Formats: sequence, C-alpha cells, structure tokens
Amino acid sequence: MPAKLSAIRADIATLSLDAIVNAANSALAGGGGVDGAIHRAAGPELAQACRQLGGCPTGEARLTEGYNLRARYIIHTVGPVWKGGNCGEPQLLAACYRNALSLAAAHDVRRLAFPSIGTGVYGYPLDLAAKTAVNTVRETLRDFDGIEEVIFCCFSAGDLQVYQRLLG
Ligand code: ADP
Repeated sequence: MPAKLSAIRADIATLSLDAIVNAANSALAGGGGVDGAIHRAAGPELAQACRQLGGCPTGEARLTEGYNLRARYIIHTVGPVWKGGNCGEPQLLAACYRNALSLAAAHDVRRLAFPSIGTGVYGYPLDLAAKTAVNTVRETLRDFDGIEEVIFCCFSAGDLQVYQRLLG
C-alpha cells in the first residue's frame, strides 16, 4: 500500500503520532518557532536529551524521545538558512526530509508529521520549500515501505493551501 500523504493546519506539538519532526537549529539548543513550541510541550527533559546529542549539522537528523508529547519520538532536523538559493539550499532541504524519514523507518515509525522546515526564521520561500518537501517525501517513501502516513503540518492557512495544491 502506498503511504498516505496529507496536509493539515495544526500545532505540530499537539499531534498524536509515532513521531513528529522538529525544525531545529544546529546546536539543538531550542529556539523560537516550531522548535520553541515543541520544547515547551515536551518539557525540560527534551533540552537535556538534546544537549547530550552534541548538535546536528544542517541537513542531518537526530532522534529523541517525545517526553510529555503525545508523539513517541521527536526527529530533529536542521534546515538550511536561505541565502538566495545558490548555496546548496535545495539539496540540504531535501536531505532533511530524506534523513528524517530514514531515521523514522529505522525506529519502526509508521505515522509522522513534518513542519514546513526552513520557511520561518530561516527564510526559505514557502512555495519552493513545499515543492522540495513533497517531491522528496514522495521519492524517499519508495525506499521505506513501513511508513504508512506522512502529514505536512502547516501553521498558517496560506501554507496549507500551497501544500494541498501540491498534494491534490
Ligand atoms: P526554521 O528555522 O526552519 O525556518 P521555524 O520554526 O522558524 O523554523 O519555521 C518553520 C515553520 O514552522 C514555519 O512555517 C512556521 O510558521 C511553522 N511553525 C511555527 N510554529 C509551529 C507549530 N507549533 N506547529 C507547526 N508549525 C509551526
């Protein structure tokens, strides 16, 4: 069965899934945006666990428990800072989605949600990021048949429209 792909509008920290993905920074230090929301909801044990991981390079992914979240795991990945698009940003963003899915599959995750990585403080244009997100997830899922459902969790109504158009 091919995995189900969908887009919803929600606070990703509230979702009850096997895993949620965090758009973290390379120090895994917690921050604003979705990272802040996830840390607040997961509780202080998350910051402790992140400190022990010793950071995460851009494009890579790291896994922690979900602590007080309803999600069992948090997969932290670090999107590229948008510098105009000629500094490897598309490749790095695609690597975020690929590495997060690979880590999810290695932990028997069946259902997970992604935020729109890179499109907040890091400035990646939403239209371009959403295309890379959807295309990369579609391609990568061919290699991981244990993953049954991937949700693109949007924070704004405008973002949701863009993702829904790409998935429709
Ligand atoms: P980045 O540093 O990768 O740009 P941000 O957290 O600044 O990460 O933004 C990434 C995306 O996450 C943006 O589209 C932002 O609107 C969205 N976002 C912020 N808070 C939440 C949340 N609680 N749930 C889901 N998405 C969120």
